[in-house]
Amino acid sequence: RIVYVNGAYLPAESASISIFDRGLLFGDAVYEVTAVIDGGLVDFHAHQQRLRRSLGELGIDFDPASIDLMGIHQGLRDRNGLDEGLIYLQISRGVADRDFLQPEGLEPSILLFSQALPLIDSPAAERGLAVITREDLRWGRRDIKTTQLLYPSMMKTEAVGGGADDVWMVDNGTVTEGSSSNAHILTADGRLITRGLSHDILHGITRAAVLDYAREAGLEIEERPFTVAEAQQAREAFATSATAFVMPVVSIDGQPIGDGRVGESVRRLRSLYIERSRERLTF
Ligand code: PLP
Repeated sequence: RIVYVNGAYLPAESASISIFDRGLLFGDAVYEVTAVIDGGLVDFHAHQQRLRRSLGELGIDFDPASIDLMGIHQGLRDRNGLDEGLIYLQISRGVADRDFLQPEGLEPSILLFSQALPLIDSPAAERGLAVITREDLRWGRRDIKTTQLLYPSMMKTEAVGGGADDVWMVDNGTVTEGSSSNAHILTADGRLITRGLSHDILHGITRAAVLDYAREAGLEIEERPFTVAEAQQAREAFATSATAFVMPVVSIDGQPIGDGRVGESVRRLRSLYIERSRERLTF
């Protein structure tokens, strides 16, 4: 597998970064994950916009437009023959002696790699996910896509260890998001309820696209927090992320949603998302 590190394409085995990289020592880094289907990038420009915002929020002085990120994505796709999967991009503040004080003027470390994965024909999407809930103990700036992912990683591991698929995190009684996805429900009368944008959640690119497509399809959308009990009583529930697309959730803490099977509306939203994304691929 060929990866990209600081200006060079290299075999993964010979690529390296410094042990003093602040991404490694402090989680002082931001990232993006962009899906590839049919050899094209899904929502590339929206991911680049969010990357720019994350860098700005952390005060990492780097203009992503100063390098040809689209060309590098393309370069990785071509070198790895990637038709379906993801491209991961990470930018850290850079390399410096370990110090809590963020040094100025560092050269950021930039790395990208690709992973081939089946995204469209997903067994999980056929089956639907069982999620458990856990208190959301992450920091208060979940809108910045940093590499500080320990808590959601621990909670996902706990969920899978207990026989579930993922976690939905809960803050003050309301659902924030999944370990690596946004959370949504559909009510009995057909409204789509999703938490509004704030510092509490990542501003999902897939969330935004799905809301647009759902609105165009005539669904009424309510952006507000919802409780675990409300989600358990919903008609359908689902998660969204760049690589999961629209992923049905069929139980929460062992309580089936609706009849406990993948519902028609979420199935339709998933198809609609894939169809519309295919029409708008970059490359
Ligand atoms: N929320 C969290 C915490 C995430 O890590 C992710 C994606 O990895 C998402 C939501 C979904 O965001 P996107 O649709 O941009 O992939």
